[in-house]
Amino acid sequence: MTSSIKVLALFAHPDDAEFLCAGTLVHLAQRGANIHIATMTAGDCGSTILPPAKITCLRRREAAQAAKLINATYICLEKKDLLIFYDGPTLKQVLELVRRVDPQLVLTHSPVDYMVDHETTARLCQSACFGAMAPNFRTGARRPASVPRAVPHLYYAQPFGGRDIFGQAIQPSVCVDISATLELKERMLACHASQQAWLHAQQEISRPAHPMREMAARAGALSGFRWAEGFRQHLGQGFPQDNLLSNLLGDLARSIET
Ligand SMILES: [Zn+2]
Repeated sequence: MTSSIKVLALFAHPDDAEFLCAGTLVHLAQRGANIHIATMTAGDCGSTILPPAKITCLRRREAAQAAKLINATYICLEKKDLLIFYDGPTLKQVLELVRRVDPQLVLTHSPVDYMVDHETTARLCQSACFGAMAPNFRTGARRPASVPRAVPHLYYAQPFGGRDIFGQAIQPSVCVDISATLELKERMLACHASQQAWLHAQQEISRPAHPMREMAARAGALSGFRWAEGFRQHLGQGFPQDNLLSNLLGDLARSIET
């Protein structure tokens, strides 16, 4: 059923996708979907000891290894950490990526998140999904991809910690049961070995699996699954209104009443 589906998971930094939606990506990959994981940056600020050139090299490799576990491709748009801006050149780059992948399903950050890089990525992703169909929008790519025929289904992952910057809980509209894919999600996350030291130094998180499990348990409690990932679908004008994620995953996805 999902064999012809193309999925783009576009997140700001290496390991964001694994943290926030890998359990769902594993399900989609197991059903034959073609998965593309993209990050805006190569995570140049993700080290206290290595210089940018070294840490980015390491993190691109870690991200590619994680993607390989589900036969996904990994693409880096080579922006810099804390310097992801909503501007013309960046939007052209993201829009070209959307045209090139031509996904039916796009997963990205919550538009409300603790980190501006994440929020900006969500805004860029929204505009790119909406604007990709407009032939008059030229990206300036050397060999531009063709213009897609439909706007993809866009879903926002939960923000880290499930809260906005004022501490208010963000309620997902759909939760995906990841009980069967949690182990592989953790293996994907573990590919980002450089980040375990960084998280420990910066946020006193000694095991990256731990806060991820907390999020998965919280989404699980909301939806009646043991472990889950939560999403909100973009339902603004011009975007598809049917719940593709639920249609693809059947009983594994549950809508949450708000
Ligand atoms: Zn991030």
